Amino acid sequence: MQYVSTRSGSAQSCPPQSFSDILLGGLAPDGGLYLPAAYPRITGEELNAWRKLSYADLAYEVLKKFATDIPDADLKALTRKTYTAEVYCNAREGDDASQITPLHLLEETVGRGGARTLMLQALSNGPTLAFKDMAMQLLGNLFEYTLAKNNAELNIFGATSGDTGSAAEYAMRGKKGIRVFMLSPHKKMSAFQTAQMFSLQDPNIFNIAVNGVFDDCQDMVKAVSNDLEFKVRQKIGTVNSINWARVVAQVVYYFRGYLAATTDNTQKVSFTVPSGNFGNICAGHIARMMGLPIDKLVAATNENDVLDEFFRTGVYRVRKSAETYHTSSPSMDISKASNFERFIFDLLGRDGDRVRALFQKVETHGGFDLSGKPGSDGDEFAKVAQYGFLSGKSTHQDRLDTIRDVQDEYGITIDTHTADGVKVAREHLTPGVTMIVLETALAAKFNETILEALGTDAERPAGFENIEALPQRFDVMPADVEQMKAFIAKHTGL
Ligand SMILES: *Cc1c(COP(=O)(O)O)cnc(C)c1O
Repeated sequence: MQYVSTRSGSAQSCPPQSFSDILLGGLAPDGGLYLPAAYPRITGEELNAWRKLSYADLAYEVLKKFATDIPDADLKALTRKTYTAEVYCNAREGDDASQITPLHLLEETVGRGGARTLMLQALSNGPTLAFKDMAMQLLGNLFEYTLAKNNAELNIFGATSGDTGSAAEYAMRGKKGIRVFMLSPHKKMSAFQTAQMFSLQDPNIFNIAVNGVFDDCQDMVKAVSNDLEFKVRQKIGTVNSINWARVVAQVVYYFRGYLAATTDNTQKVSFTVPSGNFGNICAGHIARMMGLPIDKLVAATNENDVLDEFFRTGVYRVRKSAETYHTSSPSMDISKASNFERFIFDLLGRDGDRVRALFQKVETHGGFDLSGKPGSDGDEFAKVAQYGFLSGKSTHQDRLDTIRDVQDEYGITIDTHTADGVKVAREHLTPGVTMIVLETALAAKFNETILEALGTDAERPAGFENIEALPQRFDVMPADVEQMKAFIAKHTGL
């Protein structure tokens, strides 16, 4: 399996790469994102055989099609080590943790044209209570494996406002050859998120609380990454959402959700995905391109509705950071969907020259228009429906109402991001097609809004009761690039 850049057009600006070549990297050298040169297709027989598999072995079967340069036995050992009930142990009462991503039936009403079925797929039972653990835990094991093979080391440097940083730290803690330097805005994360990250005592994890806001942290990461000499010498890498291995690890749970919700391959299901950077739902698109019988992929956004706007109008218009709302589903507060380019590449018939031109226009003009109207950049919006995409958005009030309603009707507490999903999923229910909402975080992580909606605290999984009281280990630093570089160099000894 070879990987090509979304911007590699007729000029072949960068040569095809293997899975291991792109594992530790981010963007392609030409600024594009990597995708398989062609999607592997699955047969009906394969899909049927996969119905019987454990999550770990299903992950092995799916990943085997993409990571063709990792020996099968090694890949099997890696997926079995990653997807265990011990790692994904935070299932809600009544759900079976050994399923890794158990389905939870919310509603089934029989009516004309077939049953209207709404389900939740719990993706947040991992160590940091958000779906990012699904991919990041695999990444930690893949990185450790690859680095050991090449006798190499890696220093992950990133910025977080919450979920990504903690998922990365819990995936990389104690891993040989890896250090994590994670910046977060000092005193700006929730008490729970802060405690989750800062209570880690592993010597290879460095929490750096920056006196500033999230954008200051991100600017420092960019500044350090732009110093190529420093980056190479310090072996700096990232684990951001465009990383291909993260995307492909997420393809697995679409297969799992489909197989768990159906009994034969003539049945179709739809997925509603709380979306920000388009990483999660991009994995759904890839599963569909592989032949998984997905009917609709519904992108749910909050007030930051860049994606909803595109799927309604064909106009992709990114927002400036000052125009980005801070909402009660903060992990979806994005102004530019970094994985969106992967879908656009497919939508444009894999024309890398046009993709490059369009995303250059995003930089110069803030977006592009595929509506087909006079003066637009193309008419491919007409084809979006063939890919099954739909969308919707919600507001803070919608989240409060949905959290309350789901609690009253089904007796479970959902988090604010999942509430965005449930709200939008209900607008797209089709008789005879099961709708699965991906649960992207557990409620305990966003307790402030749960308290506002329900008047009571969200339940915490066992082991999280007193995390705010644990001793914390972190350094406070100013938003100063030179001091940051000195800090990294001191701890890597490179
Ligand atoms: C990251 C995140 C999202 C958004 O996922 P994308 O892959 O960026 O679309 C949604 N919900 C939660 C809880 C998250 O942490």
